[in-house]
Amino acid sequence: MEEWDENAMQEKMTYMDGDWCPKNFLEMSVPKTKLMLFGPLPRSVPHLTIRGQPIGLVDSFKYVGMYFQSTHRYIFAEHCKQKAKEAIKALFMSIVTVESSTGDLPPKEMLRVFMARVDPHLIHGCEVAIDVDAPSFKVLENAQLLGLRRILGVSAHSVKAPLYTETGIIPLAYRRIILALRYLIYLLGLPPVRLAGAALRDSIALLRSEKPGWMSDIKLRLQQLPVPVSLQWSDIETVEGVGAVVKRVEESCVEWLRNEIDSNDRALLLRGRFRAGQDITLHDIVKVRPYLTDIAIPSHRRAVIRLVFSEHCLAIEQLRRKDRRRLVVPRDLRLCRFCRAAVEDEPHALLYCTACPQPLRDRRQALLRLVTNVDRKLDWTSTDLDGYDILRRLLRSRVLLPKFGELVYNVLKVFNEFEVYIPDGYYVPDTVMT
Ligand SMILES: [Zn+2]
Repeated sequence: MEEWDENAMQEKMTYMDGDWCPKNFLEMSVPKTKLMLFGPLPRSVPHLTIRGQPIGLVDSFKYVGMYFQSTHRYIFAEHCKQKAKEAIKALFMSIVTVESSTGDLPPKEMLRVFMARVDPHLIHGCEVAIDVDAPSFKVLENAQLLGLRRILGVSAHSVKAPLYTETGIIPLAYRRIILALRYLIYLLGLPPVRLAGAALRDSIALLRSEKPGWMSDIKLRLQQLPVPVSLQWSDIETVEGVGAVVKRVEESCVEWLRNEIDSNDRALLLRGRFRAGQDITLHDIVKVRPYLTDIAIPSHRRAVIRLVFSEHCLAIEQLRRKDRRRLVVPRDLRLCRFCRAAVEDEPHALLYCTACPQPLRDRRQALLRLVTNVDRKLDWTSTDLDGYDILRRLLRSRVLLPKFGELVYNVLKVFNEFEVYIPDGYYVPDTVMT
């Protein structure tokens, strides 16, 4: 009701309970009937009754699966909170609990379980609740990120974009708005006599008069995407028009992921997957990568994941940040702990260092022998290819991946057994205790 009138409301309740319900063979349940007040509150707390029994006043209520909240400017804030909680619970019940009794589950299987048990909570009601409230959406997104990081075994500080590009999972912001747009396609096919069809026409009318509503939320959400997408009138008039918007949203997602990877120094191994000017679809950039499926030994696979996500012990990563013992070391001074002749980056440690322990050099030779049999262009001792290019190609080669995984595991293990080299002038002196 636009203007609060307690008496009028009570009259309608009494008519509903005493007249309309009996005529339609229904009965109102008092405990299940609740009162919620949206908008400005009236001066006194309203007191409504059914058959003399008072109706409870609530600020949040679950109705046909959706939580509504009257005390938050975004009425679906409680829904997001509840669904994120259920998603995290499902994550622990389905993945963590199963793993504790079965041992390591391969990432591909864990991702399947994630999509079957966790994702449904994350997308629940996304056709209705458009993510126009950033803090509420963040709660859901955090649950998705927690799940993906748990599956890959990377830290809470790992780079965000690779969590999607390496697993085939679409970023939640994009997944939810694409599902909402597909629902709009369904609604456009409904005749105006259907309630949902009539509601859509009302919502479009509200958008035309620049008033808030479902369509206005969709338009706003499209503009809030990391790479904004604009919505024209012609887009929402036909199924084809909305289909074209879905395509533009997917292109926005591709552009965002590419920008994130190209601008982050911790994602060097993920660059160069596409040729300049190549037409890339969302499913080209977001897919399960071979190193998650083709390395059977869990410890080797985990080592490769740490390498790809730049979560390893090599100086290039470790000296990027300061800690209580040292300052940030510039990139060209992050020298190899064994030879001190080159920057200790991924290609140096895995392919080129000549001063690392002999067992590592033997393993490297074993991989090199295999490489020369499979693809001579990847022989890093003679090719002109950049070291990062060699590693990127090794990560794509299903034949070489098991041996490569073994080398990565052993290199990271041995390097970790020796102290990282910190150049003079970058130590933080010990604090003298008094
Ligand atoms: Zn070295």
